[in-house]
This record gives sequence, structure tokens and C-alpha cells, in this order.
Amino acid sequence: MTLMMLAPGEAELDYRRCRWCHSASAATCLLCPVCGSADLTPARAGGQGTVQRLLRPTRRGAHPGRPYLIVLDEGFTVQASVLGGLPGAVPIGARVHLVTSEEGGRVLTFRLAPRL
Ligand SMILES: [Zn+2]
Repeated sequence: MTLMMLAPGEAELDYRRCRWCHSASAATCLLCPVCGSADLTPARAGGQGTVQRLLRPTRRGAHPGRPYLIVLDEGFTVQASVLGGLPGAVPIGARVHLVTSEEGGRVLTFRLAPRL
């Protein structure tokens, strides 16, 4: 297992964009979730996103340490952990940025963005 600790804003997040309907999906997707096309183009996300919701424990499945759904600015969602807030108390709608990406982007950690 490789662990990359990068400065905020420097972690990289790959995703895929459908050539047909231009929907964005996670890099682990093999088919477009919108139109079902396999014609997906690799792309690089900026790592900025918004907390969409906190998953119930029963919905976290195999990833109990990654309880949040994050909507990336590019338009797709990922399941991730969020640092910088009280455990389980990260506000919905908070802005976050990617800080670490492990296992080829399958394990993601975000940090709360400082309030402006
Ligand atoms: Zn599509």
C-alpha cells in the first residue's frame, strides 16, 4: 500500500468524462452512469468539492472510515473521509479540498476549506 501525503491542493484526482453525454464519473467507473456508454475519456479533477451528505452507518458498506459523499466541482460524487471538523459533524454544504489520494484514487481524504 502506498500512502501519499501531499500539501493541500496538490493531491490529484482522476475521473472520467463521457464522450457522448459529457457526464462526469469516478475513475473506477467502467460505464457512463447516465447513458451507459463505455466511451469514457480520462480527466483530472481540481480536487475542490462540496459535502453533499453524511452516509448512515448501514450505507457505508465496505468503507466505514469514509462516511461522506463529496460532490466534486467537476460534477461527480465520491465517498471519502473529511478532516478538520468534529467527527461526524462536518457541515453539509461545506467546501472541502482533496488532501490525499491513495490506491489509485479509490481512497480519498478531504479537508475542510478555511472559511473566507
Ligand atoms: Zn454518458
